[in-house]
Amino acid sequence: MENLKVALVYNQVEQSVLAAEKLKKLLVASGNVIDQENPDIVISIGGDGTLLSAFHLYIHRLDHVRFLGVHTGHLGFYTDWRDYELEELVETLCNNQEENVSYPLLDVVIRYRDGRADKHFFALNESTIKSLHRTMVADVYIKEELFERFRGDGVSIATPTGSTAYNKSIGGAVLHPSIEAIQLTEIASLNNRVFRTVGSPLVISKEDWLEIRLPQGGEHIVTVDQFSVQQADIASVYYRVAPDKIRFASYRHMDFWHRVREAFIGDLK
Ligand code: NAP
Ligand code: MN
Repeated sequence: MENLKVALVYNQVEQSVLAAEKLKKLLVASGNVIDQENPDIVISIGGDGTLLSAFHLYIHRLDHVRFLGVHTGHLGFYTDWRDYELEELVETLCNNQEENVSYPLLDVVIRYRDGRADKHFFALNESTIKSLHRTMVADVYIKEELFERFRGDGVSIATPTGSTAYNKSIGGAVLHPSIEAIQLTEIASLNNRVFRTVGSPLVISKEDWLEIRLPQGGEHIVTVDQFSVQQADIASVYYRVAPDKIRFASYRHMDFWHRVREAFIGDLK
């Protein structure tokens, strides 16, 4: 038996609030403590969006923390447990029979033209760049080499677990999370006799990196998961597979492709 410090993050759906109250009682009754400041385990209750929020709340403790997702709505990609299985969840946690899994993250660095300090972020799903007022023009570099000049609505760079989110809606491939890579996907690129991009999503290995260089003068929106910054004067955004990973206390194995089918296809019969 191990005494764990557990933080709970939940959305405001009634079912989630009730599950959080019940989970608190069960955790305390079995000798664990609720510690929102310095937890060993962060349990999110809600949906994938709730787990994304939990990730960003505890990002400064990434090395110490393991995450666990309970879903109160539809089956999620980051959520393993149902809200009616809380007793079993606590028992499994306390008996420390977990198998951990870890997933790749996206490293995001925004660089400015005026010499301001770079801004650094981690994304669990994806980062996108869009232009605020007109067609976005950007030079896409893979390492030091100019790969293409992009014109269109924007670009998305997704992690493997983020590949089923926004990335999938814009025609990106679904990537198994054991593949340590990031995926660049175009958002409505202009392609004609004058403007040309490769057109298909690119899967970039962890040895490579991407730099999206933006022209002077424009205003851009850079998103990182559910957050966004709107700024002028961005010189470039640099992306690579992050050196750190997110760790999940995943006591439950569900085959990734089974989960994809459950989420997007449903019953075949
Ligand atoms: P949201 O607008 O409430 O979420 C959009 C949907 O994406 C929700 O159904 C959410 O699931 C689902 N989702 C989140 N991460 C996922 C993943 N890794 N795989 C499959 N589905 C996923 O916003 P949010 O809940 O804060 O999530 C932010 C994310 O939404 C962004 O990172 C982006 O990927 C995604 N998004 C997608 C589109 C699009 O597809 N056109 C547009 C905007 C944002 P839950 O209901 O379980 O939370
Ligand atoms: Mn959501």
